[in-house]
Amino acid sequence: MSTKKGTKVLTELLNIQGIKVTQMSQVPGIGIILQVESIHKESHCHHCGTKSNRLHQNHRYVVKDLSWGEKPVFLEINRRQFKCKKCGKPFSEKLDFVNNRRTYTKRVGNTIIKSVLLSDIHSVAKQGVVTTEEIERMLSDASRELSSKPSGLKKLGIDEIALIKGQGNYCAVLIDLETSKLITIVKGRTQAEIEPVLNSWGSEILEQIEEVSIDLWKGYKTLVKKLMPNVQVVADRFHVMVQVNNELDTERKRERRQVRDLSKKIKSPQKIAEYKEILEEINGSKYALLKNEESLKEKQKSKLMSVKKLCPRSAIMHKLKEKFRKIFENRKTNWLRGLLRIGIWQQRAKQYFSATVNTITNWLDEIIAYFDNRTTSGVVEGVNNKLKLIKRSAYGFRNFENYKNRCLLTWHFKC
Ligand SMILES: [Zn+2]
Repeated sequence: MSTKKGTKVLTELLNIQGIKVTQMSQVPGIGIILQVESIHKESHCHHCGTKSNRLHQNHRYVVKDLSWGEKPVFLEINRRQFKCKKCGKPFSEKLDFVNNRRTYTKRVGNTIIKSVLLSDIHSVAKQGVVTTEEIERMLSDASRELSSKPSGLKKLGIDEIALIKGQGNYCAVLIDLETSKLITIVKGRTQAEIEPVLNSWGSEILEQIEEVSIDLWKGYKTLVKKLMPNVQVVADRFHVMVQVNNELDTERKRERRQVRDLSKKIKSPQKIAEYKEILEEINGSKYALLKNEESLKEKQKSKLMSVKKLCPRSAIMHKLKEKFRKIFENRKTNWLRGLLRIGIWQQRAKQYFSATVNTITNWLDEIIAYFDNRTTSGVVEGVNNKLKLIKRSAYGFRNFENYKNRCLLTWHFKC
């Protein structure tokens, strides 16, 4: 089909802006081959910007495009080389639909990326259209086109994720708390590793950040204070709560140990059975104690009641834990009230939650800052869960950069 009308129809079917089909052939066992070229007679010189139409040479090569039905389609492109009228240097014309030195069009890349984002790299590679290496290159090309700077960022969340569990291999995760989107992942979580990333955003972006929510790690605080001296650091209240819960659970375990030790010293079978029952109660009470009281189911509620009867110290700590949580959840609590209530809580909790009380003293300003705008890293959990999911599906990614690209595209890929 090489008539003028025929090629016009083919150009319309191909539907790539600025490109026309000049010829079509079908090769059995391979597919459709379309010869294409730019509709423009000239191109801009990369060196000096001058428009030139002096053809230096033709440079033909073949790339994969989207299939037509069952038939694979290949484009035989002529990327013309011009010689600049002004500076005399030769240059190749820029073609928007295909990246330099790539064997597939951008839209093939986009389609593949979309399926990788919906499944994983291995299942897509298995379909046989492209190889794992090609997919990794596509992801890397596409993520390079994403902006490396966050726009309109006002509330930054810094958290972390363990890339390899149990190996202390932590990556810092930077999140826009207002849009709930991942900004980037940093290979480590030390100051030396995060600082260059934040600095690369430039002072304009750093200066517009109003709050940074962090967990209770001093390294983050020092770094934020250094790079953004006017920013309000907020200690994420859920991380404080984790510490409260840890101390409560430690107490539960201690009481369990005590009962166990006692039960070893007695001989009466009736008593032994009694202790066994008590032990079982304490064993199964972890979530009843730690969960928010109002979200307990009936069965858990009765579990809580009985463990409170058996372990008076846990009972007091449970009450204090719930009180502490409610200080933050009460919408009426403002900055001053928050400060007072936390102060009172610390007095009461001193002998039960010594570690938390200590932490609060060290982080008081950052913890109280919560009451200004009620900023938390709550959305971080959702982002981290997604990151973990990708990690599990991405065992095919051979390095950190690939993993990072895949994650960034999950939140920012547009096509
Ligand atoms: Zn030139």
